[in-house]
Amino acid sequence: MSTSDKTRLKPQWLNEIVVMAGNWEPLEHRRRAIANCIDDEKRYLREHSEEMAEKLTKASVNAVIWHYYKGHGPKRESNDMKLSTEFGKLCHAKGIKFGTYINFGSVHIETFFEEHPEFKNLVAIDPTGQPQLYSEYFRCYYRQRPCMSRPEFTDLIIKITLKAIKEGGSEWIHFDNVAQVPCYCDNCKKLFREFLDKKYPTGTDAEKQKVMARFGHLNLNNIELPRGSARLGVDTMPSLHEPVLQEWVDFRCKLLSDAVQKAYQIAKETKPDMVIGANPSFDFGEFTPLVWGTDVERLAISADTLFNEDVSFPRVTDDSRLIGHLFTFKLGRALNVSIPVHQPGATQPQTSPEHTMLSLVEAAIFNRGFLGHVYHAPDLLDGLDVNDSRPTTVKFIKKYSQFFADTQSISEIALLRSHHSLTNQWNRALICKILTEQTLAQYGFQFDVVLESQLDDLSKYKTLVLPNTISIPDAQLAKIRNFIRKGGNVVAIEESMTCNEWGRTRIPADRARLFGDSDLAVGLNGNHCTRKDLVCEILGLNSIETERIFYIPKLFHKITFNNNFANTWVPIIGNSYFQLPTNANDISHLIKASLKDRQMVEIKPSPSFVIPQLVMSKSGQIILHLLNYDVNKSVSTLEIRLHIPNSRKIKTLSSFRLEDQRITELNFTEEPNKISFEINNLNVYQGIIIDTTK
Ligand SMILES: [Zn+2]
Repeated sequence: MSTSDKTRLKPQWLNEIVVMAGNWEPLEHRRRAIANCIDDEKRYLREHSEEMAEKLTKASVNAVIWHYYKGHGPKRESNDMKLSTEFGKLCHAKGIKFGTYINFGSVHIETFFEEHPEFKNLVAIDPTGQPQLYSEYFRCYYRQRPCMSRPEFTDLIIKITLKAIKEGGSEWIHFDNVAQVPCYCDNCKKLFREFLDKKYPTGTDAEKQKVMARFGHLNLNNIELPRGSARLGVDTMPSLHEPVLQEWVDFRCKLLSDAVQKAYQIAKETKPDMVIGANPSFDFGEFTPLVWGTDVERLAISADTLFNEDVSFPRVTDDSRLIGHLFTFKLGRALNVSIPVHQPGATQPQTSPEHTMLSLVEAAIFNRGFLGHVYHAPDLLDGLDVNDSRPTTVKFIKKYSQFFADTQSISEIALLRSHHSLTNQWNRALICKILTEQTLAQYGFQFDVVLESQLDDLSKYKTLVLPNTISIPDAQLAKIRNFIRKGGNVVAIEESMTCNEWGRTRIPADRARLFGDSDLAVGLNGNHCTRKDLVCEILGLNSIETERIFYIPKLFHKITFNNNFANTWVPIIGNSYFQLPTNANDISHLIKASLKDRQMVEIKPSPSFVIPQLVMSKSGQIILHLLNYDVNKSVSTLEIRLHIPNSRKIKTLSSFRLEDQRITELNFTEEPNKISFEINNLNVYQGIIIDTTK
């Protein structure tokens, strides 16, 4: 199934403002996993009452995810399923989309195996021969992980999914615990060798040569599953530095995405307007393909929503770092999925009413109206605090929904997310990606994330930015070259493009020294360093084309990744790394130069914690969203210059804000090819509506 099929099948309601409430733990799980309240049964029934449905409606909730199957055993949970089904009917009557939670990747061993003893020997096995647990972190010794190499598990999940659709009235399936952890069962050993045999046949001399080039020998049948030691797990590594490791991660990602795809296809065939979502625990800062076997790009082919459970609530930290979900939301746009996140108050306490406003409006802008998990549904039964800003903010977003939902970004820059670099050289590529995203955002650049598979058509962008995208396959390199030949500019950072898809260097050995640390002092502004010549050589450019290459040797930053082998936990490059590089000013000048100094949105002061986002609404209106992440500091004056693309002429500017009830007109000054205006007293959010004529 291609992404275009997915667009066709994508239900319309996902393009509207979505306010979701969750309640996905059945009573048995609450009792077994956590200390529950004493009157839990009474309360549980109340959560499935007409009163609950009314509270949801009153809170403007238009979608829920409710418990359906947690992994205790399908028969065992049948009463809970009935309860959910009845509650689903109440939701349908009120126009609330009814979603159901289905656990895709863990079973409660104390009850599940009694129902399904045949699965006892089909769980994932760790290198010591013990079953893999659901979560090391939560010490869940009573929950085990299935091995996705076993179709029996997927088939059971599909059976439950079909029941949820046909009997349960489900309109949205949420698959949780989607993972293929490292598994050393006999089936994985067998299937991994078959995977290698299929991918690397040795029938002809040419094929043999390829296998020799890849592995150094032809003995694929002697290859073992990669593992660490009892002291240091294989999943603590920060890169995939050798071929078998790379293939093994690819193998596990494929097992998982094939399983999800099978469930997705059968669900969509049964009910074409079903929404299918998964929780692949991504963008938290872990090396997820290695740790969990999750490749979001492959999973997104079989998903409409991908849950992100990180803790990057938008804010500016005490040490002046910008945190937020905007980068994950931009990835969601590239993947053509909506990203549900936990909003403040849903699972974690709220910091302040302003932080909650910021978080909801951030999702409205960058997640195109999909606000995610706004309420833990049972909380609504107790009533919300009078200072809770969720109801008023949701009301505001709904009032101006046409400026948030189903919008298109207007961007000048494409930022490449290189799958190969983020696996072969995970820590180096990820840190540079984070620093580059921070620079682009805080200097007001309008950028989209693009994937390796989307390099065919970059015609809407002036500049392609490569954030230490070290491993680029030959085919993608040719596409980048093509973009440059057609007049596109490339900002290449650090070691971008210097390796092929296997992570093997393209630089001739006698010139490798140029990439060493000895010449880091090469000036940025002049951009005349010899390493730029190497980049041009790799791309095979002529002398005119080389002028379209803007090279940055190094992003300097304060937090160094330290791969400490005393740490037995997997490394995390999460939001503690969110910061501007110390040479961000130089870098922004170079990026601006690549745009011929015609940046679409220029903001003074710069850099700024006010992040501008230019979008086009479905009806063709241009909106400039201005979001102040530093909610504790109102911005007294902000100077803005706008270069509107396609020589549009601006007729009027008007503005709407969280604290106003109405739209007001703004004055502006015209300059050749641009306009300038001022914003005063910006608290959390201000939207600018730009009316234009061609
Ligand atoms: Zn296995």
